Amino acid sequence: MALRFFNTYSREIEEFEPRDPAKRPIRMYTCGPTVYSRAHIGNFRAYIFEDLLQRHLELRGYKVHRAMNITDVDDKTIRGAREAGVPLAKFTEQFKKAFFEDAMALRIKRADEFPCATDQRYIDRMIEMIRTLISKGLAYQADDKSVYFRINKFPGYGKLAHFDLSQLQSTGRVKHDEYDKEHIGDFALWKAWDEEDGDVKWDSPWGSGRPGWHIECSAMSTALLGDQIDIHCGGVDNIFPHHEAEIAQSEGVTDKRFVRYWLHCAHLLVDGQKMAKSLGNFYTVPDVLAKGYTGRELRYALLRVHYRVPLNFTWEGMNEARESLDRIDEWLMRLREVGEKQTVKRPIEKTELEEALYDDLNISAALGFLFESIRETNRAMDEGKLDAASANAWLEWWKRINSVLDLEPEVEIVVPPEVTQLAKEREDARRKKNWKRSDELRERISAFGWEVRDTKEGPKLTRRGAP
Ligand code: AMP
Ligand code: ZN
Repeated sequence: MALRFFNTYSREIEEFEPRDPAKRPIRMYTCGPTVYSRAHIGNFRAYIFEDLLQRHLELRGYKVHRAMNITDVDDKTIRGAREAGVPLAKFTEQFKKAFFEDAMALRIKRADEFPCATDQRYIDRMIEMIRTLISKGLAYQADDKSVYFRINKFPGYGKLAHFDLSQLQSTGRVKHDEYDKEHIGDFALWKAWDEEDGDVKWDSPWGSGRPGWHIECSAMSTALLGDQIDIHCGGVDNIFPHHEAEIAQSEGVTDKRFVRYWLHCAHLLVDGQKMAKSLGNFYTVPDVLAKGYTGRELRYALLRVHYRVPLNFTWEGMNEARESLDRIDEWLMRLREVGEKQTVKRPIEKTELEEALYDDLNISAALGFLFESIRETNRAMDEGKLDAASANAWLEWWKRINSVLDLEPEVEIVVPPEVTQLAKEREDARRKKNWKRSDELRERISAFGWEVRDTKEGPKLTRRGAP
C-alpha cells in the first residue's frame, strides 16, 4: 500500500515518493522552537505530529535524516534578554534546555541535527544567500539599511499559501517600520542594528545587524539537508508568511524546487482558540505534569487526533488519555500472562492500523483499530479462548506498532506487596463466603490504586484508571 500525504502545496493527497530512494535518506526539516520562553503544549502538538511522521516512515523502512532548528535570535528573544538584563545566549540557553527536557518527557525522538540560528556557520550562510538574492535583483537594501526580499520579482510568490499578490497590494495602514519598503509584503532578510538590539549584532556587507527569522530556516535547511528537501513540516500558522518566505529565498538562490511535500498540523486549541503565548491561554509540559499526569499521558492526548484536525485541550481529555493507556497496559499484562505459557511466536501481518497510518497518518482510525483489537482479544482471553501463540503474536505486533506510538509504560508495573497481601486476604474471605469482608478488602485495594478482577485462573490485579 502506498504511503499518502496531504501536501499543503498542492492541497491534495499525494503518493509519497522520496526524491532519491536508492541513494539517500529522506530529508526532513521541521521548524523548531523560538527560545524566548518555555514552549507550550501547542508547540508540542506540532513536534509530536512530526515525531509520528518520522517514526512511521522508519517503520516503513525509510531512513530519515531530520533537522529541527532552534530560533535563538529574533525580536522576541532579543526583547526577552533585554528585559531580563542578561546576554542573549544566556537568556536562550535556559529555554533550549527546557525544550529538550520537555521533548524527552514526551518521548519525542531526537532529530539528527538541532542547528541554532546564532551559530556563525549559519550566519555566514545567511549572508551568502542574501548576497546572491541581491545580485539576482530579488532583494534590496532600503533607506533604513535593512535588506528586504522583493516579492514582486519572485514568480509564484504565494504558491504555498495559495493567494495572489494583488491581495497584498490593498495596503491599509502602513506601519512605521515599513515605510522604506518597496512593497508592503516585502520581508526583512537582514535587519539593520538599532539601539534596542544592544550587543546583538553581526557584521555584514550591509552594515551590522541580524538576520530575519525566515532566512534562518532557509540557510539552516539547505546547509544541512541540501538544496532539495523531501518533507518540510510545521504548524499551519507557519504556512504564511514563514514557509512562503522560505520558498522564495531558497528557490531564489538555487533555482531548484525547495521542498517536495509540505505537511502542516492543525492547532491545539483551548476553548476553541489557538493555544498561544500571546493569548495567555497556554500550558507548558511542567504545568501538566504538576497536575499529576505523566509525559506518556500527555503524549497520548496530543497524538490521538488526526494531525489536520484541530484538537481542543481539556483536562477531561487528559483523563481519557489515562484511561486509554490503562486499557493498553492491562491488555499487555494479560497477553503476557497468556503468552508466557509457551514460547511459540506467530507473526501478525500488516493490519488496519498500519493501513490507517499509510493514509495520511490517520491516527484516529489507527487507534480505533487498536482498541477494537483490544476488546476482541480481551473477550477471547475472558473466555479462555486465546492460545499462547496468538497472545505472543499480538505482543510482537504491538512491539512493531509501538515503535511508532511509543506508549509503553515507563517501567514494568510491579504490584506492591501490600496489595498482593490484601488480595490474598480477599481470596480467603471469598473462599469462606464472607462477602462483606471481601468487599471491604476490594475497597482497600482500590485505595492503593489497584483493581481485582476475578478470572477463571483466580484473581488478577490491574492498575486502576483515572483518579
Ligand atoms: P514557534 O516557537 O512559535 O515558532 O512555534 C513552533 C512550532 O509550533 C511551529 O511549527 C508552530 O506552527 C507550532 N505551533 C504554535 N502554536 C501551536 C498550536 N497552538 N498548536 C499546534 N502547533 C502550534
Ligand atoms: Zn522555520
